Amino acid sequence: MDLNKIKTDYNEKINKAKNSAKLELIRIELLGRNGLINKLFTEIKTAPNPKEYGQQLNSLKNELENIIKEKSNNTINVDSKIENCKLKIVNSFGLPKVGHLHPITITERQLNEVFRKLGFSIYNSPEIVTNEYNFLRLNVPQNHPAMDMQDTIYIKQPQCLLRTQTSTIESYLLQQQSKNLPIRAAFPGCVYRNEKVNRSNHFVFHQYQAVVVDKGVTMKDLIGTMDLMFKTLYGPSVVVRYRCKYYPEVEPGVGPDMQCFNCKGKGCVLCKYAGWIEMGGSGMIHPKVLQMAGIDPKIYSGFAFGMGLDRWTMAENYITDIRTLMGGNLAYKPNEL
Ligand SMILES: [Zn+2]
Repeated sequence: MDLNKIKTDYNEKINKAKNSAKLELIRIELLGRNGLINKLFTEIKTAPNPKEYGQQLNSLKNELENIIKEKSNNTINVDSKIENCKLKIVNSFGLPKVGHLHPITITERQLNEVFRKLGFSIYNSPEIVTNEYNFLRLNVPQNHPAMDMQDTIYIKQPQCLLRTQTSTIESYLLQQQSKNLPIRAAFPGCVYRNEKVNRSNHFVFHQYQAVVVDKGVTMKDLIGTMDLMFKTLYGPSVVVRYRCKYYPEVEPGVGPDMQCFNCKGKGCVLCKYAGWIEMGGSGMIHPKVLQMAGIDPKIYSGFAFGMGLDRWTMAENYITDIRTLMGGNLAYKPNEL
């Protein structure tokens, strides 16, 4: 075999190698255990002048080793380049090394903890429900605007829709537990409305609902439970006010507002200069709702309250765009407006 040709060919190949990985492949092909040089050494015995051939081969081997070594010192190390890239990407985005719980999950778990301590059971339920349980059993009249397709997301299955409120769980629960009273239940969940998505509205949002049905339950129990909940979450100095409100499933209905924890009622960006943050709706369960579930309203009474978690969580975490909550990159910075 022409050793000079091998030297010329491999010299060219080595010079063309653009990175350490390609150079290593050439080295293995040439100087590896099953490489070309070792193969040539096995041919010494059959060479016309074995001694001279052996010397030439040794010289070729040394020359090629030196060329590869020299080239290696001037070649980009692929592995270290990748490593540098990785470090660069991580640093340039400033992402945290570990994930964190979604702020809505944190709020839900805080509330679950409060209600567990108060002896409530925590429930979950399907998000696709029927018209009957979402509206009719909650005393929403047949022609109520909420039942319009403009407000509710219906699915192709007849009479089925994506629940518009967590009160839907209440309708199922009252019916199922009507012979197994008292009821003391709480349930977090997603609800859906046919809303156009912008920085203040989303078609999916989160609510938290609590229901109590027993003998002799009064408005005092409702206010007491809500007060305790706010104090557990925000400390004993929290200020809450209750305003009369109308909801079809309760009578009377009240809406709790919490004094803005950021401005203490003076008005700021978070509370939209109202000084108060609306926390949701509540009231004494309407006798018709109890009746429809098979519970006698002359013997039993109850209260229910539902809270929207999104605005509350946004305010707590200084998030000003609701789409941030539903996005894939929630690397928000609490306490920075
Ligand atoms: Zn405020």
